[in-house]
Amino acid sequence: MIRIKNYINGLFQDALSKSTIDLINPSRGSIYGTLPDSESSDVLVAIKAAKEALPAWKVLSFEQRFDLLLKLANGIEARMQEFIEAESMDNGKPQWLAAQSDIPRAISNLKFFASAQMNFPSESHFTPGQGLNYTLRQPIGVVGCISPWNLPLYLFTWKIAPALAAGNTVVAKPSEITPYTAYLLSTVCDEIGFPKGVLNIVHGLGGKVGQAIVESKDIKAIAFTGGTITGRAINIECAKQFKKVSLELGGKNPNIIFEDCDFEEMMATTVRSSFTNQGQICLCGSRIFIQKTIYDKFKTEFIHRIQKLTIGDPATEVNIGAVVSEAHLHKILGYIDLAKEEGGIILTGGKRVKPVGECENGYFIEPTVIEGLNHLCRLNQEEIFGPVVTLIPFETEDEVISMANSTPYGLACTIWTENGKTALRVAERIDSGIVWVNTWMIRDLRTPFGGMKESGIGREGGFEAMRFFTETKNVFIKY
Ligand code: NAD
Repeated sequence: MIRIKNYINGLFQDALSKSTIDLINPSRGSIYGTLPDSESSDVLVAIKAAKEALPAWKVLSFEQRFDLLLKLANGIEARMQEFIEAESMDNGKPQWLAAQSDIPRAISNLKFFASAQMNFPSESHFTPGQGLNYTLRQPIGVVGCISPWNLPLYLFTWKIAPALAAGNTVVAKPSEITPYTAYLLSTVCDEIGFPKGVLNIVHGLGGKVGQAIVESKDIKAIAFTGGTITGRAINIECAKQFKKVSLELGGKNPNIIFEDCDFEEMMATTVRSSFTNQGQICLCGSRIFIQKTIYDKFKTEFIHRIQKLTIGDPATEVNIGAVVSEAHLHKILGYIDLAKEEGGIILTGGKRVKPVGECENGYFIEPTVIEGLNHLCRLNQEEIFGPVVTLIPFETEDEVISMANSTPYGLACTIWTENGKTALRVAERIDSGIVWVNTWMIRDLRTPFGGMKESGIGREGGFEAMRFFTETKNVFIKY
């Protein structure tokens, strides 16, 4: 049994109350450990440690901060296989995916922001005849970072790396559903002698630990990735306190497929963009719009390929692992029932899978493809966040843009066409913070990342993140 501990002021600790929460392995449906069920009192201890560590951390030289963040990255790399297996066991994702994406990306996040802080520019503006302005971008103080379960270490480091790089100290909370790799990261901090109190990780429930972080007047900014409902509550609390907030929230992303696309490339990528990580990536396309002239060809080939995907033990070479929890499994199956009520036709999938052997009690769902639904029905408007996609035919560019833009979300969009003019026009008109043309999920860490509408507020990535995690001050000197 694994006993996860809080990491506060450089020490591994249980919750003050000693209460714990069970950790479930979603591919087995069984308990494999516990994490602290922390309370606001634990958060207060973490905030105190972060406040005490701040004066020394914020005046470190760029080189010193670079070295420490790089050591963290290298510390993960040195224990790569352990992190891969932990991420897969905790989340249900195939090990090959954690090896290809999650853990390497966590390492890149730390390396990228270690370097970004050395290259982060500030400006000066000369005012003729009067003097000189210069802009300071200074650490904000103690900041809170709260992350979700779908890409656990990937998104945890996506927040803490720029926060620390910009000279802040951090109180961080990973998802209570997938806390294991954040805990392993705290053991790396311990191994490399990361300064105590600079990064504090408090485990537990969102309504207790997360809320206490958000409500604390000593926490000067919140970087949050998670669901839109949680994001709304956090935004309200931050507004009351005039607290800086960055929100990366849900999505209902459109894939727009024109008849002139490179069919083979589009098909291979669309299978991935629909079902990678069991469809539990905020950037997965869940509404697939296909131009009518190629609709039948698309449907036949797509179903053919989906039916070949393998499902089962994430420790093996399967395409599809388990969804993250029993509650999430039932939520997704509930949406599949709703699809039938709304008049949808299940073209393939739609059922829970019970693999023979060790994984028979795991939370597996067949990749599911549905057609025949109006673009405004609940199934096409609400985020499911599982291996479920809908097919929707369209005739014209105007029609598809209006359908694609009809949800409250605006995170990511994929456009498939060989016509450059079409791509440029659609990219301009789509309500989406991220647009990919003829590809999916290629991420350059320098680019702004975030969503429009109810998909979030603010942008992370590159210098956008460095700007978020710093306070801007203009100084004018008269001559
Ligand atoms: P969630 O909102 O339930 O939880 C996210 C985190 O917030 C967890 O650590 C949770 O404990 C914490 N939390 C819950 N209630 C809180 C509260 N009242 N105050 C403070 N913290 C609280 O989301 P989830 O189910 O873990 O993740 C899935 C969601 O995340 C999906 O909607 C998905 O689209 C979204 N997501 C968005 C992005 C993005 O970049 N836009 C990336 C990944 C996931």
